Amino acid sequence: THPARPLADLSADELAGFLAAQQAAYADLSGRGLKLDLTRGKPAPAQLDLSDELLHLPRGSVDRDGVDTRNYGGLEGIRELREMFAELLWIEPDQIVAGGNSSLVMMREVLTDLWLKGGVDSERPWSQEEKVTFVCPVPGYDRHFTLLDWFGIETVTVPMNDDGPDTEAVAQLVASDPSIKGMWIVPTYANPTGSVCSLEVAERLASMPTAAPDFKIFWDNAYAFHHLTEDEAKSADILSLASAAGHPHRPIMFASTSKITYAGAGVGFLAGSVETVRWYITHLGKGAIGPDKINQLRHAQFFGSAQGVRDHMLRHRELIAPKFAEVDRILEERLGGLGVATWTKPKGGYFVSLDVLDGTASRVVALAKDAGVALTPAGASFPQGRDPHDRNIRLAPTFPEPADVAAAMEAVATCVLLAAAEKLAD
Ligand code: PLP
Repeated sequence: THPARPLADLSADELAGFLAAQQAAYADLSGRGLKLDLTRGKPAPAQLDLSDELLHLPRGSVDRDGVDTRNYGGLEGIRELREMFAELLWIEPDQIVAGGNSSLVMMREVLTDLWLKGGVDSERPWSQEEKVTFVCPVPGYDRHFTLLDWFGIETVTVPMNDDGPDTEAVAQLVASDPSIKGMWIVPTYANPTGSVCSLEVAERLASMPTAAPDFKIFWDNAYAFHHLTEDEAKSADILSLASAAGHPHRPIMFASTSKITYAGAGVGFLAGSVETVRWYITHLGKGAIGPDKINQLRHAQFFGSAQGVRDHMLRHRELIAPKFAEVDRILEERLGGLGVATWTKPKGGYFVSLDVLDGTASRVVALAKDAGVALTPAGASFPQGRDPHDRNIRLAPTFPEPADVAAAMEAVATCVLLAAAEKLAD
């Protein structure tokens, strides 16, 4: 049923025939009683198994500094783990905090502190501003956007390109509007596009003039080490770039081992200028006496070194790269050349971003749901869940078994074709 040329070029008769064929294919699909799920950007059980030595660690409870990790204290996290991740993230150990099991919690804490107290370079707490706005590259990470909503922070979107956010658009917005206090960016293998922020883009973001004196880049490097190919992206050194540009407090970096060891029991990291780190720790100290240092110690022992983290990521790659290859193979086979879809070919991270014919993404997701295949809601990668073109769908292939990824993608392809044929025949 693959006509080998763009659907838009088919005659009315040909298109009617194609639509009938897709309706039949969809009816067949619906009859199969599928129960598949491509919504969850989480590690598969086999990936979690890679870290099961953690269940037998730590050996002893004293860290390299002689600290008894069983006790209170050490809000910034144990030094040996901070040093390891400082090396991986190209920063100094006194610029990084090792925290609890979630970097997203740290993002919320930072926003809360900015809101209630203001940052190291703020004139007043953000809550006292008439309006606070964030620049959001789209498509992006849904939880970033819901967090802003929760604060009542407004959003303004810019396109996410292959080399990072559209810097021209960002620079223009932030130059003139003092209510724009920050932006999100997932710099390496972005959720969901897989884009990697280039050095040029990072330099511009670090140095651009901003109307707000306390503008913040929330540099969420959740996928810094999550390569899918030998062509390993190196994250731009945003802290040095910002420091060199005279804006040392602008970036706040986040990372975690959620998709390195255990998603539910990893270690989150925050990094920034020494002043930013001190600011964060001071506020953290109002509600905590110390992090789970035993978890930090077992992570340090498990990895052994920064190289240990890199070696470990290769084993993840072996498990998940074939799943991404399946996604691309099936999309190419079923949709290639038809002019009804484009999709990313990420070199790392956890997602494939699929753009279908404008106005059909919700229809595709609804069709897939009725056929037993759960997809992330259309629009999820946009603030307020609203994709103005209704064309983007986020695919998350890491969790299901390879055979299930393939079956789900075959179903997705059928739904994309049916929705496109319906739309064109309309
Ligand atoms: N940031 C991004 C871009 C993510 O995709 C995710 C999880 O999907 C997170 C943060 C969550 O990180 P954590 O588990 O450290 O809270």
